[in-house]
Parts: sequence; C-alpha cells; structure tokens
Amino acid sequence: MTQPGILIVLSGPSGAGKGTICRELLRNCPNLHYSISATTRQPRPGETDGSNYLFMSHDKFRGMINDNDFLEWAEVYDNYYGTPRTYVMDLLNSGKDVILEIDTQGALQVKNKFPQGVFIYIMPPSLDELANRIHKRGTETIEAIKNRLGCVRNELSYVNNYNYIVVNDEVSKAVARVQSIIDAEKCHVSRNSNLIDKIYNLCSQ
Ligand code: 5GP
Repeated sequence: MTQPGILIVLSGPSGAGKGTICRELLRNCPNLHYSISATTRQPRPGETDGSNYLFMSHDKFRGMINDNDFLEWAEVYDNYYGTPRTYVMDLLNSGKDVILEIDTQGALQVKNKFPQGVFIYIMPPSLDELANRIHKRGTETIEAIKNRLGCVRNELSYVNNYNYIVVNDEVSKAVARVQSIIDAEKCHVSRNSNLIDKIYNLCSQ
C-alpha cells in the first residue's frame, strides 16, 4: 500500500510571509502540492481564479458547506475561506504531500481530523515589521489593514496548538527551516511503516 503523503499546515498573521514561504517551498519540493482554497473575497489585482484561489459567490460557498465539500472552512476578515476536501484527500492518498496555507480556526479543524499533520506557525520578527509589510504590500485599504492588525494578538494566542514555530526574519532562512521540518517529518518512524515492514520481512527470511 502507498504510504500516505504528509499534510502540512502553515498559519500565521497576515503579513508574516506565509505566501512567499509557500511559493519557495513549492519550487524546491517536487512532491509538494498546494491546496487552492475557495474564497468569497474579491480577487486582488494580479490574482487569478484557479491559481491563487477559487473565487466564488456566497451562495456557491454555502452550497459547498452544505454538501460537506470542505475539509475545513472559516470566516476570516469578513470573508469566507475553505479547503476543498477531495483535492487534498486524493493527493494524500496517492502519496503526495500537501500544503495548506490557512488561518488558525481552520488549522484547528484540520488538527481534529488529521492529528498526524504537521502544523507550522510562521511568526513575524516583530509587530512593527508586520505592520510595515502589510503597508508595503499595498493590497489592502487602510480600514482592512487596521482590521488585520487588530486580529494579530488573537491569531498569536493560538500558537500553542502548532508543532513548530518559524520566525520569518529572512525568507531564505525561514524556507530552509520549514524545509528541514518537512525533511525530518519524512524520516519519522511513524511515517515509514512500509520501509519498516520490508526490513522486518528481510530479517525473518
Ligand atoms: P488573504 O485574504 O490575505 O489571501 O487571506 C486571509 C487569511 O485567510 C490568511 O490568514 C489565510 O491564511 C487565510 N486562508 C486562506 N485560505 C484559507 C482556507 O482555505 N481556510 C482558512 N481557514 N483560512 C484560509
């Protein structure tokens, strides 16, 4: 039987750099696949449907909730976001690793269903730096920025539910740390039962 892939969950406050870290990881890890979330938020300039998100109406999103099509979903910053279940499950069952970039509410839901997942919290080096990054990104209105910064303290209070914490002081270093975590998890005894069975069989011949 194929060894299932690893489910990796990245969370952290808006502006912590999860997106950048994810993109770099996907470039470096051929077995890693990104779960494209569904959202009711409007696309930002440059974002495309099916690539950044599956952009959809509230009605469509509600329909997916009713059909139990989400692995998890949550309301974040006045919009709905959710992880389509089938895509993730099919990949994991075929031995592929999947990364979710989701908020803390969603991560807790996933943890209940997949305690064997790897939960990584990305921290900004400081709150000042976080505010700087969100301002520089220039994708949000002043009101939306205030709202996001107001949520940071609450977001940070969930950190104890994660397995790892990575400070994104420098992107290349943060990516290397996350990569090391994934590599170590791949070597974990609990994820290598096929290999162990093979060795046992050899020993008993
Ligand atoms: P943004 O609007 O900046 O793209 O994302 C806002 C927040 O929603 C981020 O914290 C992001 O991680 C989170 N998010 C994105 N996709 C999902 C998802 O599928 N589920 C949940 N629970 N949160 C998500």
